[in-house]
Amino acid sequence: MKKRILVTGGAGFIGSHLCERLLNEGNEVICLDNYFTGSKSNIVHLLNNPFFELVRHDVTHPFFVEVDEIYNLACPASPVHYQHNSIKTIKTSVMGAINMLGLAKRVNAKILQASTSEVYGDPLVHPQPESYWGHVNPIGIRSCYDEGKRCAESLFVNYKDQNNVNIKIIRIFNTYGPNMNPDDGRVVSNFIVQALKGEDITIFGDGKQTRSFQYVDDLVEGMMRMMASSDDFWGPVNIGNPNEFTMLELAQLVIKLTNSNSQITYLPLPKDDPMQRKPDITLAKEKLHNWEPTIQLEQGLLNTIEYFEKLLKA
Ligand code: NAD
Ligand code: UDP
Repeated sequence: MKKRILVTGGAGFIGSHLCERLLNEGNEVICLDNYFTGSKSNIVHLLNNPFFELVRHDVTHPFFVEVDEIYNLACPASPVHYQHNSIKTIKTSVMGAINMLGLAKRVNAKILQASTSEVYGDPLVHPQPESYWGHVNPIGIRSCYDEGKRCAESLFVNYKDQNNVNIKIIRIFNTYGPNMNPDDGRVVSNFIVQALKGEDITIFGDGKQTRSFQYVDDLVEGMMRMMASSDDFWGPVNIGNPNEFTMLELAQLVIKLTNSNSQITYLPLPKDDPMQRKPDITLAKEKLHNWEPTIQLEQGLLNTIEYFEKLLKA
């Protein structure tokens, strides 16, 4: 059955892939964005689809529309961008969640929150299961994002308990792929753009910190399975690729795959930068019909390199 679905942050990196997939599956999609970090160019190819609508709106203000489902993705995700206007980041997470939960309550829509592995902070438990409460600095430079997202999770649970809103919470681990902004500032896009331009690859710290990188198609599949999961399962559930790499390994792989002459340069590690991160995806496998990532780093990087090559030539 055709559903009407609202995607907040739909012109961003992940949102644009989600809008396309939802349309391809026969749904009607309303994409809401204020274009802070997103771009019309990510969704321009969808504009001639009569079942796609684009709305310029800021989620910190209430919004009303009759929909069946809401994916709440609006929020800058790159540390550079979320720290640029930290108060606005908190408002986007918290007021955005309140406005979208209020809408879900009013129109009886199911609502999924794009939460993050950042709720675990600089984790002392490795890999991170959903039961881990995290290790977050509440007054550090990442707190506008981490605590904003933690508060949003709390709001979701409270709207479920107090108002019977049908909620879903996913905790997304580092995701990359085409449609990332070349100026996004996150590590995968930075390294690829630097390698393609022959510029120095900027490793922050000694490069021994780890992340586990997920290709965007695997995430979108996990998100949609979560939205479709049984009503008694609301999460939170980790959605990520458990294969873990150091930033030095990532830099070396990007240099190899791009055939670049770029050199590695070492810059200071930003404050509170997590030292390690790797999802425990046991719960996702169990609850989401054996969901697991299918695209590993080398293949995902090749797809992403191809995207940036075209973009930089245009
Ligand atoms: P992105 O920055 O590309 O996309 C975010 C989108 O939200 C952009 O289009 C931006 O313009 C929009 N936006 C920001 N503030 C807004 C506001 N006040 N009102 C309306 N729109 C607003 O980032 P992304 O990687 O696509 O992330 C999407 C979501 O997934 C975010 O909520 C992020 O926290 C979450 N997430 C992403 C990752 C990842 O690795 N990519 C990891 C964990 C969580
Ligand atoms: N990083 C880096 N060089 C860059 C950008 C990031 O070495 O040009 C490091 C960063 O310090 C962190 C890791 O890569 O340890 C992942 O950073 P990103 O901003 O992508 O995401 P997050 O820290 O939120 O996981």
